[in-house]
Amino acid sequence: MSQRLHLDEREASPLLVVGSVAFDNIITPYAKGERILGGSASFASLACSYFCPTQLVGIIGNDFDDIHIDRFRKQDIDLEGLQIDKTGPTFFWAGKYHENFNQRDTLETQLNVFENFRPDLPASYKQTPYVLLANIGPDLQHHVLDQMEAEAYVVADTMNLWINIMHDTLLDLMKRVHLLVVNDDESEMLTESNNIILAGEKLREMGPETVIIKKGSHGAVLFHEAGVFSIPAYPVTDLRDPTGAGDSFVGALAGYLAAVRRSDFAAIKQAMLYATVIGSFTVEAFSCDRLETAGVVGIEERRKTLLDIITP
Ligand code: AMP
Repeated sequence: MSQRLHLDEREASPLLVVGSVAFDNIITPYAKGERILGGSASFASLACSYFCPTQLVGIIGNDFDDIHIDRFRKQDIDLEGLQIDKTGPTFFWAGKYHENFNQRDTLETQLNVFENFRPDLPASYKQTPYVLLANIGPDLQHHVLDQMEAEAYVVADTMNLWINIMHDTLLDLMKRVHLLVVNDDESEMLTESNNIILAGEKLREMGPETVIIKKGSHGAVLFHEAGVFSIPAYPVTDLRDPTGAGDSFVGALAGYLAAVRRSDFAAIKQAMLYATVIGSFTVEAFSCDRLETAGVVGIEERRKTLLDIITP
């Protein structure tokens, strides 16, 4: 049985999510997770499914068992766009966190079936009004937008790898995106500015009308033509594994906007509250485990706590 927050009298719009579905090996200072469900689209679609009907576009290989498929099904995620390639294993990524969780090293990336992945959309997804380009190569993100047959509100995420190796493709993509979400390191790489306010404004000049810069445990800042808004992180005391926090943040953010069918300054501020809360659940366990057990009551409780923290 899926769990969905009821946010608006009008019916929620569906959201199309494209990104990676992965198996991860994670090493934190205290524990290890091996071959656990990961990937930007896994975290983002599970996060977004709390808010609106979710269409998942990605690829899995011959080692992806039904237990994980059921995790998506349980949240009623539409899997028509999830391709299965029996010729090889699922995308694999291994990462290791430093002592204070602030930094992470990539130990291994095996593209596997991702190498030949083309995110071709089922016909029924081509008119979806909200699109989340979760973290994958900007060439694939372009390919998704190329297939859209109706005007869509586009939210996009990226990572340092693509800024380094597909810089121009990413710059072109930014011109097609309404809301770009990056972290502070990525914003500095893209703008060469370590002043977050200047960086936010520069990013807006590069294409997206709205930009959010995430600052890890220090929250996130929104840049919009109507003004700037800043939100702290939810005070997590039981940090276990930060993997997927960014993907869950952007999944909830886009999911909320689709749910209320809005993208104005006030709506994006509300979306950031939910996104922060959803990210706080993800980091309390490995993989998507805590994200899946958060529940609508738990999410609303944390949202109220966070609202109390930021309201004078
Ligand atoms: P985050 O912690 O939000 O940065 O996202 C972590 C997730 O990103 C992991 O579950 C990985 O499987 C996934 N990931 C790592 N590298 C890549 C990549 N090059 N492309 C797509 N997804 C990736």
